Amino acid sequence: MSKIPKMTRRQEGEFWKTHDATDYLDEMAPVEVTVGPRPQNKCNVCRKIMLSRDVDVNLAAGKVQLRQLRQLYCPDEHETRLADEAQRLVDAIEAVLRLAWIHTHPSQKGLSSANVD
Ligand SMILES: [Zn+2]
Repeated sequence: MSKIPKMTRRQEGEFWKTHDATDYLDEMAPVEVTVGPRPQNKCNVCRKIMLSRDVDVNLAAGKVQLRQLRQLYCPDEHETRLADEAQRLVDAIEAVLRLAWIHTHPSQKGLSSANVD
């Protein structure tokens, strides 16, 4: 029978503050943990880890500027792309701009895509 009592998450937090996990090693199973950069943060060409820098992104032909978005780039300059969270922000703002554009220009089709400085 286990020496570790059945507990809620909150109780577990309290339990492990006052108990030493090495006293329970015989009840623990090995797990495999991978640490390091996520695979999408590697260059698709050379597989090196992408570096990051802040860039300003112009939308709507420069009428809207998003400042200091995180951009990933290959140290050998194979590839450059916005970080996932920055790309999501650009996509969301472009969608809003497109709606506003369509609303004020009902006869035209939309905006050109983002330009990165
Ligand atoms: Zn590369």
